[in-house]
Amino acid sequence: MDGVTIVFCSLIVVSTFLFWEFVAWFSHKYIMHGFLWTWHKSHHTVHDHVLEKNDWFAVVFSLPSIGLLYYGSVTSYNPYLIAVGVGIFCYGLFYFVFHDVIVHQRIKWRPERRSSYLQRMIHAHYIHHSKHSKDECEAFGFLYAPKKYTPKKFVVKETRKETQ
Ligand SMILES: [Zn+2]
Ligand SMILES: [Zn+2]
Ligand SMILES: [Zn+2]
Repeated sequence: MDGVTIVFCSLIVVSTFLFWEFVAWFSHKYIMHGFLWTWHKSHHTVHDHVLEKNDWFAVVFSLPSIGLLYYGSVTSYNPYLIAVGVGIFCYGLFYFVFHDVIVHQRIKWRPERRSSYLQRMIHAHYIHHSKHSKDECEAFGFLYAPKKYTPKKFVVKETRKETQ
């Protein structure tokens, strides 16, 4: 791979990552809180099961990444398709660490130091979960939340159940 391809592929990875926030926001607002509420409802229900029906979304959302990585490397060779696949994969990883670990505490870990940006993102998702219905929820993003979601005083929720 020459230098130009490397630079171009890196730009594709970053743009795909950012674009995938839009895809996630759109799917969350119009699909998960739309016709697939039957899956997402499990994520807005207080329970102590390890898995949720909502986890099927993680499986579905990993398919385009797997498909692109496979097609771009095994079936044919196309570094640009691989770059798109890597961008989606990175978003998936970010989503898991931010949403499932840091916010929902499915694994008991969160960073000690939380920047005002991270506090705002966590708080926005707490607000998303303050309602448990298909139509009443707000704040559907994971990487970006408007300024109005900045908490006056940030209080972290310790357990998974408190966040559901
Ligand atoms: Zn939701
Ligand atoms: Zn909820
Ligand atoms: Zn959530």
